[in-house]
Amino acid sequence: MNSQELLRDLLVCPFCGSGVEVLPEQVRCLNSECGVVYPVRDGIPLMFAEEAVGKISDEKGTDDEQA
Ligand SMILES: [Zn+2]
Repeated sequence: MNSQELLRDLLVCPFCGSGVEVLPEQVRCLNSECGVVYPVRDGIPLMFAEEAVGKISDEKGTDDEQA
């Protein structure tokens, strides 16, 4: 088991408690309704609310905010 596999088993999303996908540069929540993305810095996932990059769904573009 490599370090990323170990992290994947240990880490859960602090928002929804779902498992996460650990990628080399980011950690993504596997819950499609949550989808929060966290940065990985020096190999350490920064899974804090203030570090959250945003939700995956937001990256797809939301034009609804244009009133
Ligand atoms: Zn989540």
